[in-house]
Amino acid sequence: MTEERTLILVKPDGVAAGHIGDVIARLERRRFTIDALKLVQATPDQLAQHYHQLVNEAFYPGIARYMQSGPMVAIVASGVTIIDSVRLMTGPTDPAAAAPGTIRGDWGRAWGPGPIQNVVHSSDSVASAEREIAIWFPELR
Ligand code: UDP
Ligand code: MG
Repeated sequence: MTEERTLILVKPDGVAAGHIGDVIARLERRRFTIDALKLVQATPDQLAQHYHQLVNEAFYPGIARYMQSGPMVAIVASGVTIIDSVRLMTGPTDPAAAAPGTIRGDWGRAWGPGPIQNVVHSSDSVASAEREIAIWFPELR
């Protein structure tokens, strides 16, 4: 089992609701290493790269608006099998389906039509993580 890095975004709804500390605390409690961390205002270009698989969906403009509705906190963290561990910690995309104890299950909820506001993003594979880290932390390359 090898060390991996993952990219976590505390999304604008998570920052507005005061969950930056909670997300960081969950990483620290698991004793993952925080390698980089910053407050960012996403640009349209960064979001189009980050969500390249969704850019052509009819609902993408709503996602882009949501992700630019305020600052986010971007985090690079590392550890053995951190990618799957943090995805479990995050919970599924739909907060209504996320178990209590997960970030989305504790702090997310359904808000009706529009983008799914679900507090955090976390990378889903090594390839995604490395691609996403380059988007939000070009200075780490
Ligand atoms: N999203 C949405 N509606 C959808 C699919 C996705 O609003 O039907 C948003 C939601 O905020 C989600 C993000 O786009 O977190 C990225 O979608 P993905 O399927 O990659 O979900 P995730 O990996 O975040 O669980
Ligand atoms: Mg995803």
